[in-house]
Amino acid sequence: MSISVFDLFSIGVGPSSSHTVGPMRAAYRFVEKLKALQVLEDVARIQIDLYGSLALTGRGHGTDFAVIFGLAGWLPESIDPDAIPLMLQAIRDAQRLSLGGVYPIAFTEARDLIFHFQEVLPHHANGLRLTALGENGQKWVSREYYSIGGGFVLDEAEIIKDQARSNEAPGESADGAQIPYPFDTADRLLEHCKNTGLSIAQVMMSNEKAWRSEPEIRAGLLKIWGVMSACIDHGCQHSGILPGGLKVKRRAPILWEKLKNAERFDEMNWLNLFALAVNEENAAGGRVVTAPTNGAAGIIPAVLRYHVQFQGGSPESIVEFMLTAGAIGILFKLGASISAAEVGCQGEVGVACSMAAGALCAVTGGTVLQVENAAEIGMEHHLGLTCDPIGGLVQIPCIERNTMGTLQAVNASKLALMGDGEHIVSLDNVIKTMRDTGHDMMAKYKETALGGLAINAKISVSTPAC
Ligand code: SF4
Repeated sequence: MSISVFDLFSIGVGPSSSHTVGPMRAAYRFVEKLKALQVLEDVARIQIDLYGSLALTGRGHGTDFAVIFGLAGWLPESIDPDAIPLMLQAIRDAQRLSLGGVYPIAFTEARDLIFHFQEVLPHHANGLRLTALGENGQKWVSREYYSIGGGFVLDEAEIIKDQARSNEAPGESADGAQIPYPFDTADRLLEHCKNTGLSIAQVMMSNEKAWRSEPEIRAGLLKIWGVMSACIDHGCQHSGILPGGLKVKRRAPILWEKLKNAERFDEMNWLNLFALAVNEENAAGGRVVTAPTNGAAGIIPAVLRYHVQFQGGSPESIVEFMLTAGAIGILFKLGASISAAEVGCQGEVGVACSMAAGALCAVTGGTVLQVENAAEIGMEHHLGLTCDPIGGLVQIPCIERNTMGTLQAVNASKLALMGDGEHIVSLDNVIKTMRDTGHDMMAKYKETALGGLAINAKISVSTPAC
């Protein structure tokens, strides 16, 4: 299976790629299925069943409203994040929603949206079932979907195929596109670079051309960068308290006011600012890019903005940065996981740090071996990192954790650039270790809000996020 950089960086809404973006896409797909089967107009109501992590942290991560809007015909990239609260209130008040935006049905949230806190569907911790029912409660169509991290969604047949295919050699994408330089390990990726003299970004560009032309790839990546950068600007301008009941104050605008008038350049706080701005936007349900997830969405934009604003980054180097980051993200997606429900926060903040570290190293003159070293350092010091969001909200520890991942990414790049690329632990070693550690991690530390800070901080959340 081959993955495109555009699968890893997709435009969506906060606060979560696996719990908001993925479920919205799943519900949208379900309605498309009903249309294809020509049964849309036979549907009287839809029952939504959320399982495992989607149930346990679903309210704090916005799974409830995401599924509702997916059923109503919205996708994460098309919905206006600012309009969500009013649109949701209208659906709740009317107790009706329009399937696919065209066919109205009754919708009573307390009856039709069911959280199964103790049950997990067979193939992944993030499972949901959607069932279309007729006037007399007869079942028309029922489908299970799995949100496998980073906004990726598979139905039951696809996840079974995907799990079987994970042992096969790469080379062909899920949609059948042939790529010239298939890789599923860093060793294979480095081998392509060695044999061809291409950089990691150039290998990626060659592969991406299996799906799009080079101008389309460049324009698409710059468009994504534009959304990331706008997210930073938006986050710097918006103050107040984040939704959800934890009463977390937005800090980016305060830091922005200090930094823009400061006489001395404070590198660390600029990096903090960029990451805070994105993750506060994400927590507020704003427009963000999954990079590779929403919980860790601040690290890559923060490091890239730092490169653009303070290192003279150009459109060319932005494209190089994103392609290199994408290649590293693909290694983790294929070799381990980018789902916190599978491997904890290693798979979110750890992976984003590794991607940003390698990408920054590349655009600041690093060799292929130094890039691999930077990516390895970026993950090595996140091994074992658990996911324990307080109140199931993507706020504590998530927002600050992105500032830490950002600083570590810059430092990992600097450390790698100090050496000659020779190092003891390979990126493949660290990816395997991350996967094994994730498998050994107790379920309560994997996006369930049943362990760690979520329990010990003893903070009650007065209002669930929506
Ligand atoms: S702790 Fe990490 S993995 Fe868990 S929700 Fe927060 S950012 Fe995501």
